[in-house]
Amino acid sequence: MTNSPVSEHAPKIGDTRLLIDGERVDSADGATFAVYNPATGEEIAQVAEGKSEDIDRAVKAARRAFESGPWRDMKPKDRAAAIWRLGELLVENKEELGGLETLDNGKPFLQARDGDVPTAAGLFHYMSGWATKLEGTTIPISFPGQFHTFTRREAVGVVGLIVPWNFPLTISAWKVAPALAAGNTVVLKPSEVTPLTALRLGDLALEAGIPPGVLNVVPGFGADAGAALTAHPDVDKVSFTGSTATGRAIMQAATGNIKKLTLELGGKSPDIIMGDANLEAAIAGAADGIFYNQGEACAAGSRIYAHRSVYDEVVAGISAAANGINVGDGFDASSFIGPLVSKEHHAKVRSYVDLGREEGTVAAGGEYATDGGYFVNPTVFTDVTDQSRVVREEIFGPVVSIMPFDDTDEVIRRANDTRYGLSAGVWTESISTAHRMAEALRAGTVWVNCYGVFDAAMPFGGYKESGWGREMGGIVLNDYTETKTVCIKIGD
Ligand code: NAD
Repeated sequence: MTNSPVSEHAPKIGDTRLLIDGERVDSADGATFAVYNPATGEEIAQVAEGKSEDIDRAVKAARRAFESGPWRDMKPKDRAAAIWRLGELLVENKEELGGLETLDNGKPFLQARDGDVPTAAGLFHYMSGWATKLEGTTIPISFPGQFHTFTRREAVGVVGLIVPWNFPLTISAWKVAPALAAGNTVVLKPSEVTPLTALRLGDLALEAGIPPGVLNVVPGFGADAGAALTAHPDVDKVSFTGSTATGRAIMQAATGNIKKLTLELGGKSPDIIMGDANLEAAIAGAADGIFYNQGEACAAGSRIYAHRSVYDEVVAGISAAANGINVGDGFDASSFIGPLVSKEHHAKVRSYVDLGREEGTVAAGGEYATDGGYFVNPTVFTDVTDQSRVVREEIFGPVVSIMPFDDTDEVIRRANDTRYGLSAGVWTESISTAHRMAEALRAGTVWVNCYGVFDAAMPFGGYKESGWGREMGGIVLNDYTETKTVCIKIGD
């Protein structure tokens, strides 16, 4: 792997201290924690460990920047320009940011540099436009001539943003970009597993002209820094992406000051291949829909339902795709999937691979590394049932179950038989089937004849236990603004 054409892209890791009020600082008690390269299991950095005192410092800085600082009062066009500039800086630094993501998360460098980083930049570019377009409405109430009534859209205040490890930079951008566009100030807490790109994002925000204190970045553990942020009485809103279990804990912690909450949680998404599908496209798309990013994707299409008439062909095709995927160090240009993110997560996914062996049949993969990096081969299970745990529980790895079905009503019922509702895929050549399924599937996003298409302009989020609220699109601004109604008496 040392000869790989992209290994030279492993960047130097810079300052790993907290970013509070525009300054890099040690944590209050001087604590640090280790982060690891998941391709080797080796420690790559010690990062300052934020705890409740540090969260408090960051919240105070964000509050000062909100109440008295220049951000909220900045002309919207200047705010827009700074946010746009941040997008530009991400693009200019894509080699470094992509490399940090690979070092920290394990994902292939080419995907990080050419996928995650431009996607994150796109969020800043798209959201910068909203800074000048947060309009209210005038409202004709029931007393003509007596009142002039209108609404204003105002920033919520100090927002706490808590992100997971699977798309560390991209999901930070999903949240930071609209929060800033609406004039909020931010405390961003990246995952303790992957804190590096969030810290660089904070530096680049300063370079882009976003004033000190507007974006603070405090790495730390969930039970400590995360819990302190969600319970903090001076945080007005929390937007969280992570597991459903943590989402529940956050709901409880947020009750103290009735924080506004957005929750983007887990998924177990169905990907449905109808009998009339273009099978070549469906097989390639469904394989990508589960295996991309090592299957560490909330929207991963981890339950594939194939019409019985094409079932054997689909199993053969997805299995061949799985067997054809190169698994290796993300800095090796030939790797399509890298290691899983951490030792703990590797152990979890391995236990599901072992479980699937008992619950069904291994059609492809089923092997995993037992020392060194945290690798798992793309794995396909068949002969499982709707009640199998590998079919019901989120595995968050490159592991898929394929099940046959006979008719459309049946597959809609089975696809919806889950506590999750994040996304779904349908492959069909029939326009009426496409529309019928898109309507019937209880999921925040339905992809038809494609899978995993994301764009800054497309809302994304979950039904049921997959969450509250939406990320991206104009709609996300509702979650980062308060609507104030103003009613002025103008006559008797
Ligand atoms: P996680 O819930 O363990 O952690 C997510 C973040 O929450 C981390 O920053 C963590 O430090 C923090 N955290 C943990 N406990 C906390 C607490 N008690 N209070 C406050 N913060 C706390 O999730 P993860 O393992 O990092 O990510 C995987 C999960 O994220 C999967 O379930 C996946 O489906 C979900 N996810 C969802 C989406 C989506 O948009 N719906 C996107 C990506 C990942």
